[in-house]
Amino acid sequence: MIEHDPRFRRAILPNTRLERLHTGGRWFEGPAYFPAGRYLVWSDIPNDRILRWDETDASVSTFRHPAGHTNGHTRDREGRLVSCEHHHRRVTRTEPDGAITILASHWQGHRLNSPNDVVVASDGAIWFTDPAYGIDTDYEGERAPSEIGACHVYRLDPAGHLDAVATDFTRPNGLAFSPDESLLYIVDTGATHVESGPRHIRRFRVDGGRLAGGEVFATCQAGLFDGIRVDTEGRLWASAADGIHLYDPDATLLGRIPVPEVVANLAFGGPRHNRLFICATTSLYSVYVNARGAGR
Ligand code: MG
Repeated sequence: MIEHDPRFRRAILPNTRLERLHTGGRWFEGPAYFPAGRYLVWSDIPNDRILRWDETDASVSTFRHPAGHTNGHTRDREGRLVSCEHHHRRVTRTEPDGAITILASHWQGHRLNSPNDVVVASDGAIWFTDPAYGIDTDYEGERAPSEIGACHVYRLDPAGHLDAVATDFTRPNGLAFSPDESLLYIVDTGATHVESGPRHIRRFRVDGGRLAGGEVFATCQAGLFDGIRVDTEGRLWASAADGIHLYDPDATLLGRIPVPEVVANLAFGGPRHNRLFICATTSLYSVYVNARGAGR
């Protein structure tokens, strides 16, 4: 643990350590915890599979393969799995009986690029980012041109209408709401494609189904931010090349949790929602913290 500000101590636990729960993947992403079954699912994107870690016995199994090169996942308010699929260029929901429902695949008649990460608001709206990483190569999806020609952030309203809510991103990526959903944080990883491009988190005000503002909240000090989560205190836990970076809502970098591999995403889990699950390149890690994830 690396402290940058004394407030960091209130968010972590002094006597915990990072545990490696599983390894052997190529690029782990998209963790989502399901309290009803006490398991975590996550993506191994290049290997085109969703894995499942069982909290009751620490076993790991294949949840789905092939999986459409899924990336980000989340759990909706009804406890269902919502997934971003690179290969099929869509956002889907897995129903209680296992059927897969397509939620969004096109915008204004054009196929989406490759949805990356997703959150569900308390009104049931589904917000997701659509960079082009899954169509850039055959490694994380299938190489193809962008039909939209840009990378937007979208909101799918509960009636099924899809709106582009932010159209000035280079490569929108991870996203997370503040606890009261009045703010939405969105990562831009544009530096992967544009020299000196964005490597930051922007903060928007949420007004109904629309976004306002969008100033830069934090710029990454180690590689790129990717997935992000917010705790009940409004602090922001961000993945980065050297581990997890913790920010106060006032944008102070409070501290870092070092992880030995490049981190792509994280999720709160466990029955008390106080355990971080961390997808880091080839491995899944976890650490208990003195914080609870928002949006339970
Ligand atoms: Mg991502």
